[in-house]
Amino acid sequence: MADKHKNFIGGEWVKPTTGEYFENRNPAKQSDLIGLWPRSGRDDVDRAVEAARRGYETWRRTPAPERGALLKTVGDLLTARKDEIARAATREMGKTLQETRGDVQEGIDTAYYAATEGRRLFGHTVPSELRDKWAMSFRRPIGVCGLITPFNFPMAIPTWKMFPALLCGNSVIIKPAEDVPHTVTLLVEILEEAGIPRGVVNLVHGLGEEVGAAIVEHPGIPVISFTGSTETGRIVGRICGEMHKRLSLEMGGKNAQIVMPDADLDLALEGVLWGAFGTTGQRCTATSRLLLHEDIHDEFVDRLRKQAKGLKLGYGLDGDVEVGPLINEASREKVEQYVEIGQGEGDLALGGERATGRALKDGFFFEPTIFTDVQPGSRIATEEIFGPVLSVIRFGDVDEAFRINNEVKYGLSSSVYTRDVNVSFRALQELDNGITYVNAPTIGAEAHLPFGGVKQTGNGHREGGWEVYEFYSETKVGYLDYSGRLQRAQIDNYAGPGQEPEEAERL
Ligand code: ADP
Repeated sequence: MADKHKNFIGGEWVKPTTGEYFENRNPAKQSDLIGLWPRSGRDDVDRAVEAARRGYETWRRTPAPERGALLKTVGDLLTARKDEIARAATREMGKTLQETRGDVQEGIDTAYYAATEGRRLFGHTVPSELRDKWAMSFRRPIGVCGLITPFNFPMAIPTWKMFPALLCGNSVIIKPAEDVPHTVTLLVEILEEAGIPRGVVNLVHGLGEEVGAAIVEHPGIPVISFTGSTETGRIVGRICGEMHKRLSLEMGGKNAQIVMPDADLDLALEGVLWGAFGTTGQRCTATSRLLLHEDIHDEFVDRLRKQAKGLKLGYGLDGDVEVGPLINEASREKVEQYVEIGQGEGDLALGGERATGRALKDGFFFEPTIFTDVQPGSRIATEEIFGPVLSVIRFGDVDEAFRINNEVKYGLSSSVYTRDVNVSFRALQELDNGITYVNAPTIGAEAHLPFGGVKQTGNGHREGGWEVYEFYSETKVGYLDYSGRLQRAQIDNYAGPGQEPEEAERL
């Protein structure tokens, strides 16, 4: 009988009030049952909100440097258990061990960044326009934050949200994606070990339409941070809009790598293989369009096809594996549907099938797939597939490449390979994306820089870096008047054209 895991509410590991559980299985080996996790309901969310409200009252009064010190301990504990957590993440998510180690490292980096931010959290002091008056701004926490996370970065994304939220003095309720409940369970165990006070961190497992929806709709949760599909983000956005919640949305992408004729083609090739097929294409920053200049198009496609064909698929814990499975059957069916659509829109140059070798038949594997001669406006060139499917588009000059890049509704990342400094800077300026890489693939964000996209990728907020601290706190302004009399701003100091200010007369 598989282990039954619990929720973490008010500092206790507790069973779900529903008494129901869901299975967590290895996407590379369906016969491998990892465990059972709570299929919680609204009552569990209500209890978590009560606990989080109490936790908030103590945590918001804890000095920020002290909150940071706790996150430093969390970073140390994550470092000590990095390999064990990465293995658990690969087992439930499928990507290779090298990648899940990177995923945990991003959590560690985020913890250490947050720890130091505890001694910054700067406000401003600003001169007042009146005499004997002081003006300043500072940051206040907001309350209980609801964090809803996807499957593809089972450690990094939860920590991107949780650590800045905690550092700012909020309490949190996290609901990880139902495909990867184990990694966040380990994260919360570490927070408990580090000494997080009761109620400050709460974990409620469950399904999106049940627990996720209950968190989004709960009036006791004023802040929601969501990463996931654009479709779900739309629902979350509508509800948060109606309830006037503070909301950060991080959603889809349709990211392009542009290769100019002067580029280092070996480097560009390595880049697109990693960008398109790493994480089996299941990254919001995955390269799903390859824009090739006509002068190098045929040669590049030829080499790409050969290299992509040689990628080794398999269970991510097996040493030489390069590409893992898709996360679940629904995801594989979605990829298959797009391959069918693609066959009417371009030429299938590689793949297009489920990978069903002996070691693969028990998992959700799909062959790396490449379409060539794809038209920029077609569905496979504009819609997010979230799988190992790459659309190759030919272009004639750099302006055309920029235009094609910008002709999709998403705007997360882009990449340009060139040795021309002018093209590099023009790309930074012209490409409508939150992130542009020069001579690097569309993936590879670093934890200490803002992460996010424009257009329908997000709603203007950023994860990571210094900007996320603004999302998890409110600006408060304080004015201190020590003049001992009523001073009316804009009036007493400015009497109007041709008139002396009263203040000047008094002196
Ligand atoms: P992905 O396809 O990347 O998993 P989803 O949008 O389906 O994206 O899921 C992202 C997260 O959102 C998951 O934790 C999921 O459980 C949750 N979720 C799904 N539907 C809803 C919903 N209606 N309300 C809130 N959260 C949801």
